[in-house]
Amino acid sequence: MSTSRRPNIVFILTDDHAAHSIGCYGSVVNQTPRIDEIAANGRRFDNCFVTNSLCTPSRASILTGSYSHINGVYSLFTPMDASQPTFISQLRDAGYRSAVIGKWHLGHGDGHDPQGFDHWDVLPGQGDYWNPTFVSPEGRRTVEGYATDIITDLAIDWAESLDGDDPWCMLVWHKAPHRPWEPKPEHQALYEDPRPIPSTFWDDHRTRSASVRRTAMGVADHMTTADLKENPPSGLSYEEAAVWKYQRYMRDYLACVHAVDENVGRITDWLRDRGDVDDTMLIYSSDQGFFLGDHGWFDKRLMFEESLRMPFLLSYPRKVAAGPAFDGIVTNVDMAQTILDAAGAGHPDTMQGRSFWPELIDDRERPPVEGFYYRYWENDDIIHKAPAHYGYRTDRYKLIYYYNDGFGLPFTGFFSYPPEWELYDLQADPEELHNVYGDPAYAELREELKARMWREQSRLRDAPHHSQPVPGGCEDVEVAPMPDIPRRPWLDPGPMNG
Ligand code: CA
Repeated sequence: MSTSRRPNIVFILTDDHAAHSIGCYGSVVNQTPRIDEIAANGRRFDNCFVTNSLCTPSRASILTGSYSHINGVYSLFTPMDASQPTFISQLRDAGYRSAVIGKWHLGHGDGHDPQGFDHWDVLPGQGDYWNPTFVSPEGRRTVEGYATDIITDLAIDWAESLDGDDPWCMLVWHKAPHRPWEPKPEHQALYEDPRPIPSTFWDDHRTRSASVRRTAMGVADHMTTADLKENPPSGLSYEEAAVWKYQRYMRDYLACVHAVDENVGRITDWLRDRGDVDDTMLIYSSDQGFFLGDHGWFDKRLMFEESLRMPFLLSYPRKVAAGPAFDGIVTNVDMAQTILDAAGAGHPDTMQGRSFWPELIDDRERPPVEGFYYRYWENDDIIHKAPAHYGYRTDRYKLIYYYNDGFGLPFTGFFSYPPEWELYDLQADPEELHNVYGDPAYAELREELKARMWREQSRLRDAPHHSQPVPGGCEDVEVAPMPDIPRRPWLDPGPMNG
């Protein structure tokens, strides 16, 4: 077989699967032997981060290789203009065939359905775990069974249907393990035994901003009966009920992950049976991280590590030698260009990432990535109450600005508070329990990080909030004006839910 053969690409993406519930990332709550195989055959990325920790924006950034303010997908209520260049449209121009099967969550109808694919068969909106509806160019249909299994079946069926030698790329994008965590009955009992409780489960959020303390993502206080499937037993103390909820959450979440792990194994076995493992670039990732009781929370959105970190595993034995964990900083914005490099296809100038393909195929020394920019735009999620914010993370420090300029919706009123900052020293405080923004020992560093973030915003053509003073030395740095972000159309499902 020629070494110049272009790879087939299988990109398995899950929804809300935190790295710390994957065996090869050191999980203490479960095992994922089939996902771990990808790392064993290739590389595990230990510093892969999301640039906006939310399902829809992360998917758009993965596809377009650009930030939310460039691709226009800011929130769960901003569908994607699917005509913009993506790594899929670039691969098609380079002669690839492609498909997306499973969760799309970038809108439906009116220019929002998948474009540039030879085949698409997706769940409408969030999709269902059981007997899911699928939407394709042929219309809608219901498929009996469990979504994680069905998505794998449909993906393999598509690839098996292809003739000829042209390479192909398929996106196997699962709903699991997204809320409401509905496992298969045969997996229900696997995680009945209590799981270890995170060391930060009882975090009282002291020293953290009020912006963070106002969020409503607590396992103890904000999990619903739909999440838990039943109410806690009566007679439990507040603390006992919190632990009961955590264990119920883990039981169902990890059982959903178990089905993902089995289905990753089915893909690997299928590739092996075809003799295609060596020439396939197989990727496993999730659209963001997730709090698994860390800091007492579930969900994502915030810049804390458990939410910010994406699992990312890649194997392609023909070109990428199995090796140690990759510890450089990479983001979801970098994925598109990396895939295009592996396929020998060009990058459109709308892409803003930095391909990490060169590091994977040789030992070329490039300057390390100094840090990356993050922005969460939603100011109207009155359920989770996470406010809009932006920040900058280096290998050691994390600076966050909550601009607090009108959280809410018309019928709740808009609440504005003074802006707040946070700063974490991840080396001294890996659990992010101490906001040192006001600590004089960090004053100089704090100002330096502000300037670096401002310059990065300028480079990425994003807009600092008007409330943020111009950092010292940045007076001549041009920045964009704040865009007008659509607020969620409450009570109107709109194009996002299909
Ligand atoms: Ca997600």
